[in-house]
Amino acid sequence: MSLKLYNTMSRSLEEFHPVANNHVRMYTCGPTVYDHAHIGNFRAYMFEDLLRRYLKYCGYEVTHVMNLTDVDDKTIRACIAEDLPLKEYTSTYIKAFFEDLDRLGIERAEHYPAATDHIPEMIELIEKLQEKGFAYQSEDGSVYFSIGKFKDYGKLSHLDLSGMQSGARVAQDEYEKDNAADFALWKAWDEKDGDVAWDSPWGRGRPGWHIECSAMSMRYLGETFDIHMGGVDNMFPHHEDEIAQSECATGKMFAKYWLHCAHLIVDGKKMSKSLNNFYTLRDILDKGYSGREIRFVLISTHYRQPLNFTFEVLDSARASLARLDEFIRRLKELASENATPEDLPAWARKAEDGFKAGLDNDLNISGAFAAVFDMVTAGNRAMDSAEVTGDSARAILTLLHSWDSALGILEPPPDEADEETLRMVEMRQQARRNKDWGEADRLRDELAARGWVVKDTPEGPKLRRS
Ligand code: AMP
Ligand code: ZN
Repeated sequence: MSLKLYNTMSRSLEEFHPVANNHVRMYTCGPTVYDHAHIGNFRAYMFEDLLRRYLKYCGYEVTHVMNLTDVDDKTIRACIAEDLPLKEYTSTYIKAFFEDLDRLGIERAEHYPAATDHIPEMIELIEKLQEKGFAYQSEDGSVYFSIGKFKDYGKLSHLDLSGMQSGARVAQDEYEKDNAADFALWKAWDEKDGDVAWDSPWGRGRPGWHIECSAMSMRYLGETFDIHMGGVDNMFPHHEDEIAQSECATGKMFAKYWLHCAHLIVDGKKMSKSLNNFYTLRDILDKGYSGREIRFVLISTHYRQPLNFTFEVLDSARASLARLDEFIRRLKELASENATPEDLPAWARKAEDGFKAGLDNDLNISGAFAAVFDMVTAGNRAMDSAEVTGDSARAILTLLHSWDSALGILEPPPDEADEETLRMVEMRQQARRNKDWGEADRLRDELAARGWVVKDTPEGPKLRRS
C-alpha cells in the first residue's frame, strides 16, 4: 500500500506522489512569536512532525520550511508595550519556541525563515502582482489584493463567496477578524506601528501577514511545492489568500496537497489566547508532566479529529508509556547483540504490517498505536512463557527503533531524563539526607556514566546532559 493523504483542496483522500521524484518539499505556517506558544499550537506542529518523520521513514528526502511570523499587529503591539526593538522582543520567544520543540521531541525543519529577514522578497512579489493588475494602491499608501480578479478565489475553503464585496478593505491581519474581502499586501505605516517600518516603492510600511508565507515558501521551496500545512483556522482567509497571491504572481499551482489539523479543544472550545483557556508547554511541565507524555497526548489522536485536552488524558499517556518502557526493559534484558529481520516472531511481523497500513492511511495513528500495543501484549505473553529468544528480542528492539523514527515517543527527548535516571537522582538525595556521602558519590558517578551531570542547588538537584 502507498501513502494516502486527505487533501483539503479536493476534500478527498489522494495517493501521495511528490512533484519531483523522491524529494518532498513542505511548508508549515509557523508561530507568531509575540508570546509562548500554547499546546494547541503544538498540536499543529506535532501532526506536521509526524508527517515529516513518516515521509522520511518511507524513504523520501524532505525539505521542510516553517516560517516565524515576527512582524504583525500582535508582535508590534507587544514590543511597543515593552519598549523594546521588535527583533529584541521577538528573539526571546523564538528561543523559547525552539526549547519547546526540543522538549516535545519535534524534529527541526530545514529552514526557519523569519519574516523580517525577507522583506525584499515580499516587496518583489507585491510588485509583480501590481504589474499584472491583481493589486492596487489605496490613498494611504497601502496595497491591496483584488480578490475579484482571481476567479479561483475560495477554491480551498469551498466557501460561498458570492456575498463578498470585493471593494471592501480590511487592514487587520489577525485571526478571527472578518477578512472576507480584498486583503492588504502592504500596510502603510501609521503611528500605532512605532518605529517598525521598511522602505518600499509605496512608501514606508510593513507587509501583510499572508504575503509573508507566499514569499518565504516560494523562496525556499520553489513556485510549486508538495505540501502546505496548518491548523484548520489557517484555511480561511490565510491559506486562501496565500494561494491567490502566489498563483496570480506565477501562473502556476502553488501547493499540490493541503493538510489541516483539527483543533485542540478545552471544554468544547478551541484552545486560544483570545479565549484565555490555554496552557503553554511550560505550564504543563511545571505540573510535573514530561515533554514525552505531552507528545504522546498530542500525537495520539488522529490529526483530523478534535483533540479534547484534559489532565486525565495526560495521566493515561503516562500509564501507556510506562507499559511500553517496561516492555522495552524486558526485551533489553533478553536481547542478544545482533539479529536480522528474519528473527522477528510472526506476531511482530503482523504488527509491522499494521503499523505501516495505519500510517499510510492518512496518518491513522490509532492503527499505528494498535500495532505497537498489540505487539506489547503478544510480546509480554511470549516472554512470560519464555518463548522469546535473544535474537528475537533484538530484532523486535530494532523494529521498535525504526518505528520510533516516525513516532518519536519510545525514547525520551534528548534533554529529558528517563524514569531510571530520575530514580537514581532521588536515591542520591536520600543518601545525602542520610549523610551517606560514599553512596551519594557512587550514584553521582553512575549518573555520569549514563551521561548526566547533577548540580545541587538551593531548589534541589538539577540534571543536565554531560
Ligand atoms: P499562530 O501562532 O496563532 O499563528 O498559530 C500557529 C499554528 O497553530 C497555526 O497552524 C494554527 O492553525 C495552529 N493553532 C492555533 N490554535 C490551535 C488549536 N487550538 N489547535 C490546533 N492548532 C492550533
Ligand atoms: Zn502561512
